[in-house]
Amino acid sequence: MSSEEQDTVKTICPYCGVGCGIQVQQGEEPGDVRFMPWGDAPVNEGRICIKGGAATEVVDHEDRLTEPLIKEDGEFREASWEEAYEYVVDELERIRDDYEPDAMGFFGSSKTMNEENYLLQKIARRYGTNNVDNCTRMCHASTVWALRTSLGAGAMTNSMADLEEECDLFWIQGANPGEQHPIANSQYFRQAVLEGATVIQVDPHANKTTRSFQIDDTDRHQHLQLKPGTDIPLLNAVIKTILEKHEEEPEAGWIDEEFIEERTEGFEHLKETLEEFDKEAAAEECGLSLEEIELAAEKYAMANNAAIFTGMGMSQHACGVDNVQNEINLALITGNVGRPGTGVNPLRGQNNVQGTCDVGAMPNVLPGYQLVDDDEARESVEDVWGFEVPDEPGLTNVEVSHEFGNSVKGLYVMGENPVMSEPDANSVAERIQELEFIVVQDIFMTETAEYADVVLPATTWAERDGTVTNTDRRVQRMRGVDKVHENTKHDLEILSEVGCRLFGPENFEFDDPEEVFEELREVCPIYHGMTYDTLGEEGLHWPCYEPGDEGDSYLYADEFDTESGLGHIEGVSHTPPDEVPDEEYPLVLTTARLEEHYNTGTMSRRSPTLNRQIPENFVDVHPADAERYGIEDGDEVTITSRRGEITVEAQVTEDIKEGVIWTTPHFAAASANRLTNDVLDERAKIPEYKAAAAEIEVGIEP
Ligand code: SF4
Repeated sequence: MSSEEQDTVKTICPYCGVGCGIQVQQGEEPGDVRFMPWGDAPVNEGRICIKGGAATEVVDHEDRLTEPLIKEDGEFREASWEEAYEYVVDELERIRDDYEPDAMGFFGSSKTMNEENYLLQKIARRYGTNNVDNCTRMCHASTVWALRTSLGAGAMTNSMADLEEECDLFWIQGANPGEQHPIANSQYFRQAVLEGATVIQVDPHANKTTRSFQIDDTDRHQHLQLKPGTDIPLLNAVIKTILEKHEEEPEAGWIDEEFIEERTEGFEHLKETLEEFDKEAAAEECGLSLEEIELAAEKYAMANNAAIFTGMGMSQHACGVDNVQNEINLALITGNVGRPGTGVNPLRGQNNVQGTCDVGAMPNVLPGYQLVDDDEARESVEDVWGFEVPDEPGLTNVEVSHEFGNSVKGLYVMGENPVMSEPDANSVAERIQELEFIVVQDIFMTETAEYADVVLPATTWAERDGTVTNTDRRVQRMRGVDKVHENTKHDLEILSEVGCRLFGPENFEFDDPEEVFEELREVCPIYHGMTYDTLGEEGLHWPCYEPGDEGDSYLYADEFDTESGLGHIEGVSHTPPDEVPDEEYPLVLTTARLEEHYNTGTMSRRSPTLNRQIPENFVDVHPADAERYGIEDGDEVTITSRRGEITVEAQVTEDIKEGVIWTTPHFAAASANRLTNDVLDERAKIPEYKAAAAEIEVGIEP
C-alpha cells in the first residue's frame, strides 16, 4: 500500500443531505488536509459540487476554537477541560435542583453524527426532560409530521437511484435541488429528464433548478411561479381538475380507483372539502392562469410514474403540515406511492438531518420515531437504558427559545447557531441573555457561542468517525484524519464525559462511536440490522430490521406503516400566511439558500472559495417593483419588516414574482432572519420563514 493510500480516508461531505462520498488526505502535519475525489463513492461516483470540493478549507481555519473557554465579567478566558467540565456539570445539577429538569433545553445538530446526537438525547432524557430538538424543526418538521402520520415514516418514500431509473414526471414544489442538492439534481434528476422525463416546478422564484431543466424547446419543463403561501389553493386546483376529469373520462386513468379503494382512507373527506372549491378564484389567488394549472394536473395524472419532491418552500409555513398533506393527497389518489419512481420525497438539507431525527433528537420521539407517549415503545427503550424516560413530549427548539428566561433557565447547544438560524433573530439575541447558563460545543465562535458561559472546542467533520444518514435514508460511515488541535475533543467524547460525571459510567461510558452505534441498534428498530461492518463503504438504506437485510430503496410496496396500514387522505383548505402585505409593509418577503453557502454560514463564510463566489447578501427585486421604488440594479437598499431591518444590494431580476422580494439567511449582519416571522405551524411547530410582510427603500447614505 502506498503512503498516499495509507493517509487517505473515505468519508462523507459535511454539507447537504445528498451524502456524497469524498476522500480526505492527511498531509505531514495535523491540519494539513486535502480534498480528494472518491471515484466509486456509492451516491455520487466521484462527482462533487462547489461546496463539497471546498469542504476541507475550514478544517484548519485560523478561527478554530482550540481551548475550552469560560466567561468571566463578560469576557472569555481560557480554561482547562477539568474546570470546564466541572462548571457545566455543576450548573446542570443546580438548574435541575433549583427548578426542574424541564428548565433545560438541549439542541442537537444535523452537522454532527448519529452517535453524537443519540448520546445527546440520551443525556437529556436521563436528566429528566424531553426538551431536546435539532434543526429539522427549522426545515422539515412539518414534512416529517405529515409523512409519519399519513404514510408511516418521516422520510423520502423512494431513493435517488430508483427515481432516476423509473420516474417519468418530477413534481418539484418549494424545493431547489439545482442549488441545494446539486449532485442529486445533476446526476439523478436531470439525467432522467435528458432521457425523457417531464418536470413541473412550483416556486415563486426562478432559480438554478429552473435553468437546469430548460433542456430543449419541448414543453417538458413547466414552471408554475406562484405567490408565496398559495400552495394549498394550487394543489387543490390540481386535485379538483383531476377529479373533474375523472368524472368526464372514467376510463382514462386520471385517478387510481383500485389503489384508493384498497390502500387508502379519507378520499370522501377530500372530495367533500373540494365540493365548493372555486378553481378560477384559486388560480387568481396563486397569481397563475387556470389553464397552466390544468395542464400541470394533466401531466402529473397521465404520467406512468410521477414523483413529488418537496422542500422548505412547502414546509416553512404556519400551514406546513397541510401543505405536505396535500402533496400526499395528490400522490395517493393517483396511486403514485409504493412503486419505484414515485412517492413524496423531502430533500433534506444537512448531511445528517435525517439521522439526527432517526436517532431521537426530537422532543416527541425516541430513536426510530417511537413516540415518547407510547407506553409500550417507551418501555422497550427504558429496558435497554435502565432508567425512566419522561412520558410527555418536550418543547421544540423554537418553543424552548420562546421560554428563555421564563420556564427555561439553561441551554446545552451542540453545533447549532440559534441566534442566527431562528426566525426573528434580533429578539432571540435579546431573549438568550435571560438564561442563567449556556454551554456551547462547536468548532468556531458562533453568534450563539458569544452568549455562552462555557464554550467547549470540538473537532470538525474531517477529524471524526461515526455515521450519517442521507436524504434517501442511506446510513454511511464517516472516517476521520488526525486531530488538528491537541486540546480539542470529539463531540462524542465530550458528551460521554458530561454523561459519566452527571449520572455515572453505566450508561455513558463508551470506547468509540461503534460501541455507541451498537447500543443505538438495540433501541432503534429501523437500524437494528446494521453494523459498522455491514455498512462498509456502500452504506445501507433504512428500514433495515434484521442483520442480513439489505434495506429498502423504496417504501410501502404492500402497506403503509400507519395503524390501519392504509395511506391517509385528508382534504385541506387554504390558510394565508400569518402576515399579508398591507399599507405599511406592502411586499411579501420570502427567503431561501444559495448553492455557495450553508445555513448560518459558520463554515461556508470561512471558506475562501465559497466566500469569493458570493461574499455578501443581496435581494432579488422584480423590475416593476424596482421602477415603482426607484431602485436600480446594484443599489444599496434597506428591507424592513415588523421585526428589524437589513441593508443589502438589490438585484433587479424577473426571477422573482412582482410584489415579492427574495433574500438569504447566510450573512450575520444582513441575515434574512432579522426580518422573518416566528409564528409556528400549530402541530409541527415549524416557523413561517417563507412569507412575511416587508417594505423596501433605497439605502440611506451614511
Ligand atoms: Fe456535498 Fe451536497 Fe455538494 Fe454532494 S451535493 S458535494 S453532499 S454539498
